[in-house]
Formats: sequence, structure tokens, C-alpha cells
Amino acid sequence: MRFLFPKFDKVGMPLLGVAAAALFVLEAKRQLRPRTRPLAERLVENGSVAAAALPALRFLLVPVTYATASMVTKKGCGILPLLMLPRWAAYGLGFLMLDYSNYLWHVLLHKSEWLWRFHNVHHTDLDLDLSTAWRFHVGENIASVPYRSAVVVAAGIPASLVLLYEVIFEGCTAFHHSNLRLPLQVERGLSKVMVTPRLHGIHHSIVAKETNSNFSVILSWWDRLHNTLRLNVPQAAITIGTPAYRDPAEQTPKCLFLMPFQKQRPWVLPDGTVPERPEIPNREQLLS
Ligand SMILES: [Zn+2]
Repeated sequence: MRFLFPKFDKVGMPLLGVAAAALFVLEAKRQLRPRTRPLAERLVENGSVAAAALPALRFLLVPVTYATASMVTKKGCGILPLLMLPRWAAYGLGFLMLDYSNYLWHVLLHKSEWLWRFHNVHHTDLDLDLSTAWRFHVGENIASVPYRSAVVVAAGIPASLVLLYEVIFEGCTAFHHSNLRLPLQVERGLSKVMVTPRLHGIHHSIVAKETNSNFSVILSWWDRLHNTLRLNVPQAAITIGTPAYRDPAEQTPKCLFLMPFQKQRPWVLPDGTVPERPEIPNREQLLS
């Protein structure tokens, strides 16, 4: 199995690094939501979660899905080779299939009790910014390997597209988790096509029906397709996190690593109430 991908590591990763550095500076200058906790503490916490998760992504997920795609191409199996499309069309359709499969995976992370244990570590962050984009439990990344490999086989994805999609996926994940305030009109336009910071901020709300919205990763079309899009919650009205995990003392690297293996708490605030919000009309209208 191949572990070295020169274009991915020498072009894709540095590009992602530059984009992340730019977002880090910009989100500090133009904050979308006020911070509730010190940035330095969260960088240590989220960085420690990422320190386990990122090697699993680079040295397990990427090589396995790439090797799977190489094998698929040799054998000519999956949907894309059957269609005998020109190269550009096969790449375009392959990109859409990968992105749609990641929408479905994200829904599964929320609906499966077992997968939610791992995804909850990402959602218990009490603020949402660039560092949250890498706060994924290593178990969630490992669990995604068989799913994403199966998608590559079923769709017949070319190996180079696996790498290209991964770079765009990581860049878009960094962008939509960032705490960057874009002009509302700009974000209204962008959110018609892709997932934006306000759109994804609603997915990190402690109100259950808002968390169970906006599952898309790159293109926002999948939420429109499945009627899971919700844009009409103002960012100032959102409390970030999950209701039963409000104590900053539980945000230590050790607590976060062990969280999936402990009894999961019900969706209630420490005072026993369930966070709710009356339905706001016009779900597809992005608010400030
Ligand atoms: Zn989620």
C-alpha cells in the first residue's frame, strides 16, 4: 500500500496550511459569534484531540481509500466506469457522489447511537471556530474508513480524485467551522451552493432540531434535497455545544478521549430543561 502522495503532501497540504492561517487571522479580526472560553485553552484541548485524529486520517484513511480506488480502476468496477463518460464528466460526477456520501455519513453520525458517541466529542466544543474543524475523535476517523472505502468501490472513484476531494473537503471543513463574519449578502449567495460559517453554526446549536439540520460538508444542495436545510436562526441566538456537556472542566484532553466510552447523557441542560426555540418562518432565509 502506498503511503506517500507527493502532490497531496507538497501541494495540497501547504495550500491548506496557508488557507488555515488566513482563516485564523481573519476570524480573530471579524468575529461572527462572541467567544465564551479562552482561545489558548481551546487550542490545547482541540489540538490534543486532533493530534490523535489527524495521523489516522493521513496514514489510514487516505492510503486505504487511495489503494481501494486504484484497485477499483484496475478492475473497472463501480458506477463511473460503466457510464464511460469523458474524464472531466467522470471527475465531476465522482465529486458529487463523494460529497453526497459524506452528507449521508454525517446524518448517520447523528442517528446511530454508537457513532454519535464519537461525533459528540466534536459537538461538545463550547465555541465554534477554526480549531473545531480538527476536533474529531480518532474513533470517528477510523470508523469512516470502511464506509468511505465502500463508497469508492460502489461509485468507481479514480484514485487521483480521492486525493483531490480530500484536500477540498478539509479546506471546506476549515472554512465552515471558522468564526469568520462574512457580509450577510455574500454569505446568502455562497450558501446557495456551499456550506458557510453561519449555515454550519446552526448545526452546532444546543437546540435538537437545529443540530439535526445542515449536515452537508461541501455543497449545501444535499440539505436542500432532503429538506434538512435551516438558515433562519440568527447567530446571536445560538448557544454552541450539546446541552448536557456545559462544564468547561470536562473539556480536558483525557475527558474528551474517554467521552465515547462512557454513559451518554440525555439531550437536557444541567437544570433538567430541554433547550427549545419556537419555529421561525421561512427556513431558507439566512439571518445575521
Ligand atoms: Zn454533526
